[in-house]
Amino acid sequence: MEATSLKHENIDDLEARRISKDWTLEGRNQLRDQILSALPGWYSPLAHFLFPGIFGVATVVVCCLLLRDLRSIELVTIPITLLLSNAIEWRAHKHVLHKRGPGPLAMLFERHTPMHHRLYTYETMEIRDWRELSMVLLPWFGIVSILSLQLPLLGLALLLGFRNVALLFMATSMFYTVMYEWMHMAYHLPKDSFIGRRPLIRWLAEHHARHHDPKLMQRWNMNVTVPLWDWLRGTYYRAPGVFVPTRLRASSSEPARAESR
Ligand SMILES: [Zn+2]
Ligand SMILES: [Zn+2]
Repeated sequence: MEATSLKHENIDDLEARRISKDWTLEGRNQLRDQILSALPGWYSPLAHFLFPGIFGVATVVVCCLLLRDLRSIELVTIPITLLLSNAIEWRAHKHVLHKRGPGPLAMLFERHTPMHHRLYTYETMEIRDWRELSMVLLPWFGIVSILSLQLPLLGLALLLGFRNVALLFMATSMFYTVMYEWMHMAYHLPKDSFIGRRPLIRWLAEHHARHHDPKLMQRWNMNVTVPLWDWLRGTYYRAPGVFVPTRLRASSSEPARAESR
């Protein structure tokens, strides 16, 4: 019986079960205490929250101020960059944060799957202490690293004479990164808080909370900001009994089974 059910199981489901088999509530509480007590005394959750926002918004403003003779066709860069960012978010979450990579990529995996996911599961998504933002937000230098990775592309676009396109690309991707940070934080705030009660946040938080179910985390709901790429790739999980478009049912292998395990 077990062999039959395993035969139909996706490799990602098996991986999720392997990673989370020792996750108990007591172990998770201990891990939370260990992480909080190991934080340096100078750690400020407010500064950690403000830095990416200030850096990102400042970059957007500077890029907009540097635009010259903007043509309407160049504005197409904005939706294209938003779509590209959504796809990269999906891919990086699935293949970097949920699979142990080589070198520094392993650190990103360790921070996300065995730590962030272990601390917060579908039933326990809420932070209890503001210092837990250290386990929810990207490291403070995350947004700077994302900007640095884009600099060669920006340089190439400038060399080729696409100044406005390059600036719009950078402004939009920084805006998206700030949105990622703020939305992810919102999903982990108490459900009865002012932000947690907003209907849009409640809907998106439910999408992200499903991803935090250890049985689903390796395969479902990989988008964090807006679940567009999840929908396009057929990884948008909905609980049994909730309407699922035919397209998604056809491209997924029985998500409801994961719910019952
Ligand atoms: Zn999360
Ligand atoms: Zn994840």
